[in-house]
Amino acid sequence: MVGYEALIRWQHPERGTIPPMEFIPIAEETGMIVPIGEWVLRTACQDALRLPDTCFVAVNISPVQFMARDFVDLVRSALHDSGLAPQRLELEVTETAMMQDKTRAAAIMSEVVDMGITVAVDDFGTGYSNLSYLIDFSFQKLKIDRSFVSRLEADENSGAVISTIVGLSRALGVDTIAEGVETEHQATLLRAAGCRVVQGYLFGRPEPLPEQITIKALRLVS
Ligand code: MN
Repeated sequence: MVGYEALIRWQHPERGTIPPMEFIPIAEETGMIVPIGEWVLRTACQDALRLPDTCFVAVNISPVQFMARDFVDLVRSALHDSGLAPQRLELEVTETAMMQDKTRAAAIMSEVVDMGITVAVDDFGTGYSNLSYLIDFSFQKLKIDRSFVSRLEADENSGAVISTIVGLSRALGVDTIAEGVETEHQATLLRAAGCRVVQGYLFGRPEPLPEQITIKALRLVS
């Protein structure tokens, strides 16, 4: 186990669990994503303290939040207030976020990387696929999109694309993580394609952080 990705769910009193693809676009349209994103980042940093200290926590950053004026200050403050080591925080940024205002996005990314935080390019291979950003931006990880993984078993071209992304990442000196792994067979094929770090339902489903983790950590200390 090397890390966790923080995922948001909305428990509505009448409508039950509302998935993020339903409310995040509305939050982005209305600007609500800024306070929601701040809460997510601060909560994830706090929660990470309850996880083994060898594990990172990855937080999805909305393009709107990423380009907000005080984003870097918010990241600094979330780290400071929680006391989390920057090396344990990973920010997942999409290609879309980087492409809006390239100069500003590049500056934000290098500021964040200089703080010791890891930047991962989320949903890699599904955005504009303008490969020039691989040269212009600072980041340490490519997240291979689940759409490539889900097609692995049926379409061998998908394996070829994944091997190529892995080769590209090695040449660039960055890591990869494949997402959406649901079967043993997919895991085997990913291993064959050179993927060393993967995530998905095969290894763990999204779930609330159990209270017990705190107790376990306390036991180790006492
Ligand atoms: Mn993500």
